[in-house]
Amino acid sequence: PNGLTPEAARDIAARAYELDRKHVFHSWSAQKSLHPMVITAAQGCYVWDGDGNRLLDFSSQMVNTNIGHQHPKVVAAIQEQAATLCTVGPAYVNDARSEAARLIAERTPGDLDRIFFTNGGADAVEHAVRMARLHTGRYKVLATYRSYHGGTETAVNLTGDPRRWPNDHGNAGVVHFFGPFLYRTQFHATTEAEETERALQHLEQTIALEGPSTIAAVILESVPGTAGIMVPPPGYLAGVRALCDKYGIVFIADEVMAGFGRTGKWFAIDHFDVVPDLLTFAKGVNSGYVPLGGVAIAPHIAATFDDRAYPGGLTYSGHPLATAAAVATINAMTDERIVENAADMGERVIGPGLRELADRHPSVGEVRGLGVFWAVELVRDRATREPLAPYGGTSSAMTETVAAAKAAGLLLFVNYNRVHVVPPCTIGEGEFKEGLAILDQALTVADGHTV
Ligand code: PMP
Repeated sequence: PNGLTPEAARDIAARAYELDRKHVFHSWSAQKSLHPMVITAAQGCYVWDGDGNRLLDFSSQMVNTNIGHQHPKVVAAIQEQAATLCTVGPAYVNDARSEAARLIAERTPGDLDRIFFTNGGADAVEHAVRMARLHTGRYKVLATYRSYHGGTETAVNLTGDPRRWPNDHGNAGVVHFFGPFLYRTQFHATTEAEETERALQHLEQTIALEGPSTIAAVILESVPGTAGIMVPPPGYLAGVRALCDKYGIVFIADEVMAGFGRTGKWFAIDHFDVVPDLLTFAKGVNSGYVPLGGVAIAPHIAATFDDRAYPGGLTYSGHPLATAAAVATINAMTDERIVENAADMGERVIGPGLRELADRHPSVGEVRGLGVFWAVELVRDRATREPLAPYGGTSSAMTETVAAAKAAGLLLFVNYNRVHVVPPCTIGEGEFKEGLAILDQALTVADGHTV
């Protein structure tokens, strides 16, 4: 798709790989053992590797290419903006930024209508926490163990994921609690209703024992993503909202991964009719075509900074190229009914398709999700639910399963013992079934590692 001959593409890929291994320092990795894949081109739900092989991308890269690769309207918007005005400082008004803020404010839940722009998700979390602390005059922040909130200092400390461990220097004020997760419940619940009730009791006890007057915010992913796509049981998020109201705590919904159509609604929290005080977003806001994130702010929090300066900012807050890409992305998602497609695919095709695999493969412990946001949890033993890879680790069973899928032309997002099926929101039935057939085959490898 990039117009190169296979030989030229291979030459470019070989040189890129060589220079990468010499000079590029990669995220979250032991540098020496890395063998990263070269991607030379991408289109819609597909990417091409350095050897010219086409792969179906069930990962949406970092679960962010919600609109698919190289959407012509978004590409054109970036080109037009680049030809007009590439950059302006954050203190000036710019039409792309103003319009992006309007489109986002119109879609965020309830009265969240002020938008602070950041460069990505982690700094959105940093700023949401800072706003909550300044608004309440308190410092503690409660976050769940099964979470990912970003790689910067506060965000990584809020994260429950093992990536926090080597980064944890006792960041003042972060307290972790358990969210609901019926499949691996901490609460000995057997029904969703019990899980909700007990998870809320646990949160209220945590608040009581930490001291309500010290707690600025509760932050959670409306549907936790990286940690396993655990759709919260009915009533849980409304219960968190009620506890935050009762104790004067700011409710931060982290929608960096779940937002902008991924769950089949603009925001995951819309499934539960709950309005947070602050909502963080990134990724899907412009499908990652140019780095962008932000915080949507409720009026009562924004009012804290009406007469008192907000002590925070970024050189690239509301960057024209990024916000022009957001305007084009959000308009295309609306006009082409891409959020509706995600909902329809989830209900009619992806959910039933994955559940059917679960019935046939002993390695599948549970399948869960909604929209184009699904986890397939792999286990060594269905009865004990022993994971196919340990928490925080990997296993040959997992790597072989993922390698089998890749060899057959399917890219998967993997975290410990889970395969995440998170294709672009634009995926069609035929494309999904092509990927499902490959996943079906790859799971026979995982089945071979069950007891
Ligand atoms: N919050 C959530 C829920 C995320 O999934 C992520 C990224 N995976 C982040 C925050 C951090 O975003 P970024 O990598 O853009 O800093």
